[in-house]
Amino acid sequence: MAKTYTPNFNKFNSLFELVIYFDTEEKCRKFISAHRWGDNVVCQYCGEQHCYERSDGRFKCPHCNKSFSCRVGTIFEDSNLPLRKWFMAMYLISSHKKGISSVQLSKDINVTQKTAWFLLHKIRTLMAQDDSVALCGEVECDEMYLGGKERNKHQNRRTEGTQGRSTKTKSPIFGMVQRDGNAVAMVVEDAKASTLIPIIKQFVEEGSMVYTDELSAYHSLASEGYIHRFVRHSEREFSREGISTNCIEGFWGHFVRMVFGTYHYVSRKYLQRYIDEAVYRYNTKEALEGERFQDLFSKSLSVCNYSMVKMAA
Ligand SMILES: [Zn+2]
Repeated sequence: MAKTYTPNFNKFNSLFELVIYFDTEEKCRKFISAHRWGDNVVCQYCGEQHCYERSDGRFKCPHCNKSFSCRVGTIFEDSNLPLRKWFMAMYLISSHKKGISSVQLSKDINVTQKTAWFLLHKIRTLMAQDDSVALCGEVECDEMYLGGKERNKHQNRRTEGTQGRSTKTKSPIFGMVQRDGNAVAMVVEDAKASTLIPIIKQFVEEGSMVYTDELSAYHSLASEGYIHRFVRHSEREFSREGISTNCIEGFWGHFVRMVFGTYHYVSRKYLQRYIDEAVYRYNTKEALEGERFQDLFSKSLSVCNYSMVKMAA
């Protein structure tokens, strides 16, 4: 009987090690099939468990006679791009602190920029946030607005009444960070209590200490079962006896540096994906590179909503 291969992802703690290990497409294919099926390759059409490998690397089912590739049902399914390039792209986007632009990725793995763009968007879908996350203990909540500052625009291009918290030209984003834990963030319609309070109730456990700024939307938190403390940013107060929103501000700082430093511009349409990317990186900041690659790799094998972006390549 063949020996089941158990990989050690710690050997992928640098791009160098990853590239050395995955030196052929065959090695990538074997890596995927070992993860998915172990020694018993399961037919994707009839469920037969003893499919065999053909010389071209595809699998053949002895029962229904159909053949299939190790990519079927994974994020790699609709793509002809070499798996080595996929693996490198997954590694690069997860290990670069500020993400990687499609221009840069296209040069790094030698594909067109268009292909790199689709690749990055597909990989971002693996980084989607989990709705079942629960934050507790000390949690900081804050809202931010992403978009051009009206006063920096030419007179002709300004939109009336859009300074400050207007949502006409800016997208409001709401974020929550557990001080010793994870972040959750999302695009929201507005920063009204009717929008923000239900989100807090969904993600933050009752009884938690919630820190915010003085925005009136948060005023009902105490009556919703939270211990609410806030700082008055309008009075230039940023921290008082441990009451601050410094963690969530730090998260926004990373997010903004990623958006403006790497991507330069993100459309509203894809904004949530970039937020997911930033949250993913924040929540895995303690992980080793190999562990992050392992996480993305295992997510890439399960059928998910990746079909939202069809590969051009
Ligand atoms: Zn079959």
